Amino acid sequence: MSDTKEPAPPVRAADRPPVPGRVLFDPLRPVDKPQDYYDRIKQKFAEARDLRLSYRPEGRSQYTSDLTGDLARYEIDPHAEAPESRDPITDTVECLFIGGGFSALLTAARLRERGVQSIRIVERGGDVGGTWYWNRYPGVACDVSAYDYLPLLDEMNYVPGSFYAKGPEIFAHCQAIARRYDLYDLAVFQTTVTSTTWDAKAKLWRIGTDRGDMMSARFVICANGTLSKPKLSKIDGMERFEGYSFHSSRFDYNYTNDDLSGLQDKVIGIIGTGASAVQIIPRVAKAAKELYVFQRTPSAIDIRDDTATDPQWAAGLQPGWQRERREKHMRGPILTEQQKIDLANLPREEKIRRQENQNIEHMMRIHRRVEEIVQDKATAEALKPWYMHRCKRPCYDDEYLPAFNRPNVHLVDTNGRGITEVNKNGPVFDGREYPLDVLIYATGFEVQVTGIYNEIRGENGLELNEKYADGMRTVFGIHSQGYPNLFIMGGYQASFQFNLTFMLQTQGDHIADCIQYVREHGFTTIDAAPETEQWWVDEVIRNRGKTNRNKECTPGYYNFEGESNRRQDGNYNGSFLQYYTHMTEVKKEMERHFRFG
Ligand code: NDP
Repeated sequence: MSDTKEPAPPVRAADRPPVPGRVLFDPLRPVDKPQDYYDRIKQKFAEARDLRLSYRPEGRSQYTSDLTGDLARYEIDPHAEAPESRDPITDTVECLFIGGGFSALLTAARLRERGVQSIRIVERGGDVGGTWYWNRYPGVACDVSAYDYLPLLDEMNYVPGSFYAKGPEIFAHCQAIARRYDLYDLAVFQTTVTSTTWDAKAKLWRIGTDRGDMMSARFVICANGTLSKPKLSKIDGMERFEGYSFHSSRFDYNYTNDDLSGLQDKVIGIIGTGASAVQIIPRVAKAAKELYVFQRTPSAIDIRDDTATDPQWAAGLQPGWQRERREKHMRGPILTEQQKIDLANLPREEKIRRQENQNIEHMMRIHRRVEEIVQDKATAEALKPWYMHRCKRPCYDDEYLPAFNRPNVHLVDTNGRGITEVNKNGPVFDGREYPLDVLIYATGFEVQVTGIYNEIRGENGLELNEKYADGMRTVFGIHSQGYPNLFIMGGYQASFQFNLTFMLQTQGDHIADCIQYVREHGFTTIDAAPETEQWWVDEVIRNRGKTNRNKECTPGYYNFEGESNRRQDGNYNGSFLQYYTHMTEVKKEMERHFRFG
């Protein structure tokens, strides 16, 4: 008798046991430690936040994204040759997208499905892809399951190769969408839109660019992304650094070589320890002679445990499988009748307290993980994040913490202060100079700026930011009255999701429905009705600031670096389902909510 065993069936990546870091906080689950334990930790969180705020009371203005003059080189595209000169474009298209990332691609796909022929993408980079065009640093990957993050999987008949997709796979998916929906035909790359002006007489948008174009379009979709413009911390002397330096989103393989062999005799420094740096650090650590990590606030690092997609599972997927996942995600966990009653009977304060306590337990598990992995005690202590889960973007990487056990990796923990000085040799902290050959700025991006690089003038010539001077005013973050036929994606007053592409697809579907409505009803323009705009502003205000959570968080871009901001100038904090349901309801009465011309 043979004793060969049947091989164990592969775990279906989508059905594997949940990663502990992804647990949902459950207000029905009481915690088991005395409240005093949680209060003490919460107090430490508050001290860590206050320390950072004391160093940087200026909030967002600690950063600059004005990358001109000496700083202009931080925005140069290392992935494309310098643009060739071309004649200005002066034609008219029906739909024009400012930006060629996922927002544009998934909306354009819906427009094609509705019969729109004339679609142009105008993109600053040398190809479509947005985030995934620019961010090509070593280790770049997405932290959301690929089956959820990559859009249009049903339509593209594509199943990602593993639970988490890496940057090149995502970029290739973007290109495949552009090919499948013929979006390259009219696309214009290496071109930045600088002005978008409504011509009321012609009922067209006139679009000026940095290449001297003056294009026209019936509809304009601002698809410039949520985190697209690199920003730098304002550090004294940074322009005097004589080594080589670049921003994480402009990772320069011309300098490092594709296999990073160009770094083997180099001393590298990286400023920042956010989601980008967490992916870069372990890979550069292996390639560099020495790596100095300049940390201001540690990220929370959880288990990644990526798995390849089971081909049998993939082959058995039925059409519409991704749509079903998206709807399930939007509905959230399904509660039993008893759970619903228990939840309704739980006092609000107790609900918040339990959520906070569970959050603290989660963060203490993150701390234990650091202790288990990082050998040097002082380094381990410095890598522990002291804030609530999701005050900052949580990270998932199995190689980050072990990188600090390497003899060539050095953590320079600034305990909240940050690097404030760079001289010709490198950063200076606490009186010590750190001479470097290469300095990487992983200091993030401008957040959710609609008219980035661009000036948007609607009816009466009013610039969009002038309209917003007394507070943002939109419907769903997408329409703003006085800006007919203009649609904004990924801006404030919209829902914000960890899986951004679900949210963008919801917006893209809505925009395509609106354009279809205009076309099918023989109209030329659509604009938000003032009453609907007021209703939405009120709805945003009503749903913001329900708890002190944002204020209590350590500063970061999620809470405007600790600045207090007007309640209407942020994301819509009703649920994603509520956002979607409102949209569906509005579309049942289009002529009540919009003005058509
Ligand atoms: P972030 O804005 O998240 O991080 C910037 C980092 O720079 C922070 O650690 C910040 O510290 C630090 N910093 C700023 N100034 C200084 C200074 N003077 N000295 C030392 N440190 C400094 O940018 P990222 O590019 O990392 O990430 C941006 C977003 O992009 C993420 O939140 C995520 O949404 C997305 N992303 C997603 C990825 C994924 O799915 N895996 C990967 C990469 C990015 P402090 O915390 O104290 O402010």
